[in-house]
Amino acid sequence: MKKVLIVGGGISGLSAGVFSRLNGFDTEIFEAQAKPGGECTSWKRKDYIFDGAIRWLIGTKKGTAAYDMFKTLGAFEDDKIVVEEIFLTVEHNGKKLYFYRDVDKLKEHLLEVAPEDTEMIKELCKFAKKAKSFETPVDKHMPEMTIFDNIKFSMKMSSMGPIMMKYGKVDGIDYFKKFKSTLIRNALKTLALDTFPAYAPIALLGTVVSYDGGWPLGGSAGVSDNICNKFKELGGTIHLSSPVKRVIQENGKAVGIELDNGQVVKGDYVISSTDISITLNKLLEGKIKDEAYNEILNSNSGEYTFASCVFVSLGIAADLSEDVSPLVVSLNKELKIGNDLIGDIYVNTFKHEKSFTPEGKTAAVVTMDVYDYNYWKKLYDTDVNKYKSEKERIAKAIIEQIEIIYPKAKGNIEVAEVATPVTYNRIYGAYKGAWMGYGRKVSAKYRNHKCKLEGIDNFALAGQWISSPGAVTISASTGKFAVQEICKQADIKFRS
Ligand SMILES: Cc1cc2nc3c(=O)[nH]c(=O)nc-3n(C[C@H](O)[C@H](O)[C@H](O)COP(=O)(O)OP(=O)(O)OC[C@H]3O[C@@H](n4cnc5c(N)ncnc54)[C@H](O)[C@@H]3O)c2cc1C
Repeated sequence: MKKVLIVGGGISGLSAGVFSRLNGFDTEIFEAQAKPGGECTSWKRKDYIFDGAIRWLIGTKKGTAAYDMFKTLGAFEDDKIVVEEIFLTVEHNGKKLYFYRDVDKLKEHLLEVAPEDTEMIKELCKFAKKAKSFETPVDKHMPEMTIFDNIKFSMKMSSMGPIMMKYGKVDGIDYFKKFKSTLIRNALKTLALDTFPAYAPIALLGTVVSYDGGWPLGGSAGVSDNICNKFKELGGTIHLSSPVKRVIQENGKAVGIELDNGQVVKGDYVISSTDISITLNKLLEGKIKDEAYNEILNSNSGEYTFASCVFVSLGIAADLSEDVSPLVVSLNKELKIGNDLIGDIYVNTFKHEKSFTPEGKTAAVVTMDVYDYNYWKKLYDTDVNKYKSEKERIAKAIIEQIEIIYPKAKGNIEVAEVATPVTYNRIYGAYKGAWMGYGRKVSAKYRNHKCKLEGIDNFALAGQWISSPGAVTISASTGKFAVQEICKQADIKFRS
């Protein structure tokens, strides 16, 4: 039996593991951390489990291709998906806006709350209805699609046509400016960052109003553990706390890996699912030069962006399960962090998760999107005390705000911990702390990368860096695409 070695046990590596086993390869995964899942994870502090990733998961809706993929991966059980009628609440200056999943109700409500945006709201809701059929391509990687595949996919997505005609060449930031209401702008930014193309928030709103994008009970770590268990059930082996030093290359072929501890493991094929900078610079020792990644990672044109986040975990000794969540709320006073000015925060108390805390307690998380990685890196490298005190300053500001939003939290905060872009880099190797690969302007040349990396055979790439903008569903699909590539190189037919 031919052997596949997978570097990285995040969602994409685990998915590659399952598809590799389903295609009959002897398969081993090597993960640097002590837990599987990579960024799709949670962590425990005192009584509290803090969920580190999923806000919503595309592919929880039966009948979609992503759902079928997740079923193959064993990612969740059908009766453990929560789909709330109010997807998100947004608050600004005491005014509230509810993002309903029922698109007619949503339209009526938005028109009431933001009459100044009547024309844009009508268009948004019309397009959201059309985008209900939008699906992330999970069966075949876009760069591998034949003309026939492209025609088939375009026909399936035909209702997206008018959206792409109007907004296919518009950047998110310019689209958001068309809305006068801060409430609506903040809501759209939560669906897709303003550094993504304009059609992204519309397409994602389409999935929301089609009742996809639910919450899998057990959260991010639950999804990762389920896929990992499926991989093991299929006979795969995962090695945790096993950082890989390099991919061994002989005559232009990957023939094995060497771990940081010097252990050598031979294999017929290697899949790297790590952050792309780790793959190119560490694992492949800078020997492979790739034009696309060279431009994406090094261009200063602003065409590619690397959103990271400052993530505050708050253990609250109070029951907030009846209070509003998830919530995007404007701060009373903007928070300056390096060159980033934070005007609003995303808060989630995971009110459906009984397993995250003992009864009567709440594990809340607050996230802020930031781009100034160098600010944190410099603090961390030059003055750890300043780095720590900056984290404390942020925790204090966020706690003050949380105590206003949730008065029951006042005086009851038992855990407060701040993760920064440097945390994501240190733990997962994330380039500039990026939590979803790269964002791109519509003018950017590169959007996807083939799993094949020119210059090395018997090797394939997986992970959020081969398909912008990343996220769990896309990462999972790239694991499948990487195994399709390995099957192609092995000259065998891929079975899903
Ligand atoms: C705050 C936050 C919110 C998010 N919200 C959502 C959401 O609502 N919905 C959604 O779909 N997605 C969300 N995401 C994004 C999603 O979690 C990621 O896109 C996805 O988990 C990335 O998976 P991956 O396998 O591509 O990469 P990673 O998770 O980065 O996996 C790479 C793995 O490689 C390992 N590794 C690195 N170097 C080595 C080495 N030398 N040897 C061995 N192993 C190595 C790392 O430890 C890691 O486990 C969120 C992420 C964050 C951080």
